[in-house]
Amino acid sequence: MAARLKLSSPIESIAGLAPPKCELLKKNFQIFTVYDLLHHFPFRYIDKSKVYQVAEVDESLQYIQLYGTIYNFQMIGDGPKRRLTAKLRDASGEIELVWFQGIQYYQKGILPTDHYLLFGKPQKFGNKFTIAHPEIRKALPADIDQLSGFQPLYPSTEAMKKKGLDSQGIFKIIKQAYADMEENEIYEFLPQDILKMNQLISFPEAIYQIHFPKSNSQILNATRRIKFDEFFQIQIQLKKLMAHRVTVQHGYLFPRVDNCFDQFYHHHLPFPLTNAQKKVLKEIRRDTMQGRQMNRLLQGDVGSGKTIVAFMTMLMAVDNGFQASIMAPTEILARQHYEHIHAYAEKINIKVDILTGTTKAKEKKRILDELEHGKIDILIGTHALIEPTVVYKNLGLVVIDEQHRFGVAQRAALWKKNELPPHILVMTATPIPRTLAMTLYGDLDYSVIDELPPGRKPISTKHFFYTHREKCFEFIRTEIEKGRQVYIVYPLIEESAKIDLKNLLDGYDDLKKIFPEPKFSMTMVHGKMKNDEKSTNMELFVSGKIQILVSTTVIEVGVNVPNASIMLIENADRFGLSQLHQLRGRVGRGADQSYCLLMTEFQLSLEARKRMQVMVESTDGFYIAEEDLKLRGPGDLGGTRQSGDIQLKLASISKDADLLQLANQVAQQIIDEDPELHSEKYKPLKHYIHKTNKEVKQWGKVS
Ligand code: ADP
Ligand code: MG
Repeated sequence: MAARLKLSSPIESIAGLAPPKCELLKKNFQIFTVYDLLHHFPFRYIDKSKVYQVAEVDESLQYIQLYGTIYNFQMIGDGPKRRLTAKLRDASGEIELVWFQGIQYYQKGILPTDHYLLFGKPQKFGNKFTIAHPEIRKALPADIDQLSGFQPLYPSTEAMKKKGLDSQGIFKIIKQAYADMEENEIYEFLPQDILKMNQLISFPEAIYQIHFPKSNSQILNATRRIKFDEFFQIQIQLKKLMAHRVTVQHGYLFPRVDNCFDQFYHHHLPFPLTNAQKKVLKEIRRDTMQGRQMNRLLQGDVGSGKTIVAFMTMLMAVDNGFQASIMAPTEILARQHYEHIHAYAEKINIKVDILTGTTKAKEKKRILDELEHGKIDILIGTHALIEPTVVYKNLGLVVIDEQHRFGVAQRAALWKKNELPPHILVMTATPIPRTLAMTLYGDLDYSVIDELPPGRKPISTKHFFYTHREKCFEFIRTEIEKGRQVYIVYPLIEESAKIDLKNLLDGYDDLKKIFPEPKFSMTMVHGKMKNDEKSTNMELFVSGKIQILVSTTVIEVGVNVPNASIMLIENADRFGLSQLHQLRGRVGRGADQSYCLLMTEFQLSLEARKRMQVMVESTDGFYIAEEDLKLRGPGDLGGTRQSGDIQLKLASISKDADLLQLANQVAQQIIDEDPELHSEKYKPLKHYIHKTNKEVKQWGKVS
């Protein structure tokens, strides 16, 4: 008798599944257990539940079955290009069949006196339909009464196919596993009333029907339930974490704001704060007075003024005897933060320092020493800040700027820097669509700066083809003559950094020829440059001594040069939307009309064209983020925990936003009712979460 399988059984215990096949399943699809196997879902189904009439064939049909006789074989052409055609006839008409391979086999094997069941995809050429390489089997009229229903197609790989693990092979194993399953092993974990109210089929039904559907509606219902579950898994985890943090996780208290904060606010603000900035500061203040750890995500479009909010939040920490730090993703950005924050901090006499990967050993030693003795109030830096050697006297707040460049593990390291976890403010400049934020940061509180400082003119964005390059440069000349500065950005095009650098250098030489006069002075920054040189060149541009800055995307985030009014992006189609938006955000920071010029070849993919169109049409970061999500899916999005962190197999954050919303509501409702899932009603759920949630737990914890 076959082994009784549990969901947690290793796939080795499935009857007839040899070790090499197990290895392939593990390696290619991370299928280790029966649970994993049952969650290896078909990507498509072939409908063998119906036989069509030839007369019904039209362009909307995918793969279909037909039944009839096959006759009138003809060989057309010769040599390797020859093909065999024939006709399939049923009571309603006839349709052409064609083979390019296996010609002899079909020509000899098919008899005009037999009836055949044929399966294939009709394609229209001119005004007639053809089916190339149909699947054919001899069938008596009685056979077609027992059709094979829906045939699932499973993801596989070349290596797996070679070992018999093609779609069919995988289907067989799933069938086997199902047959040997222990009873009640697949159980419903949600209460009936929730299912009923939300028109969800049961979990056991869903898992069965996704693999062995009998109708289209079964496929739809099963898919809906499984997608719901994928979102629900994440949402319930996040809600639990949130509830835990709010009720259990202690945090430092920042009751006082009567010293540095007040001084700065009343006497040294460089400009009036926008209402949005004030609102966010109030939210943060509320968080830090409750004795729980703040974990807040601050979204604000490029240029919305997050830096000053971060600074004033740090003042709250300092006023209460804590240290604060701010982490930036790049050296350039860290330096820029340092300059601004240092200038602010000087006025109120607090000590700011900077620590990056390039800080000299002696200097570093001094900083670490001062930090440990509490002589530094605010430390600014890059990844260097979270090295284990960096010890704070009393760290109370960490601001993470443009956080998507920081890995999850790096953020996790922050929790260990003091007795209680410091308050955390995560700032993103790439707005995240609401749905994605819900999925990724559902455990965080959420603030938005949805207002730009007054007086900004919307940036005008134009898309040029290289054929109009001259015109573009003409325009740049006149702007520089008016006293403006220009960024020219090159993307990474080749796999090799060497070739990229060459592209940039060639581009630079070209531009030198286009702008030979001394009044169009030019400099360059790129990632392969020494940091000193990079800073020097950057500084020349920031101080206005140089008019044109040619660069790679190192200037992408945060850099602030108000006098720069043109951003020219070469090969703009090579960038994703969020990156383009980021780059564009480098201009439009001063009082002058600014421009973003997107340069591409005329030949563009549909998707690239759409991206250019979105950029030309909108400067709204949230809109752009939504479009980006639609075009690319969440995996590639900047500003997120990366794709591997979200375990979604069927569900799509952009396409199934309504199900995500539903999962979010249901999860909230459950956690509100019973935060610890103690009640009998939620026992199966608790059990289920415990069994399946390992990954989610790890990433939910850290930011
Ligand atoms: P980001 O949100 O992209 O980090 P920054 O904090 O760099 O934006 O601010 C962008 C520019 O706007 C800076 O030059 C900053 O001094 C200025 N700024 C910020 N807030 C205001 C405000 N309330 N009024 C006027 N200018 C502001
Ligand atoms: Mg910024």
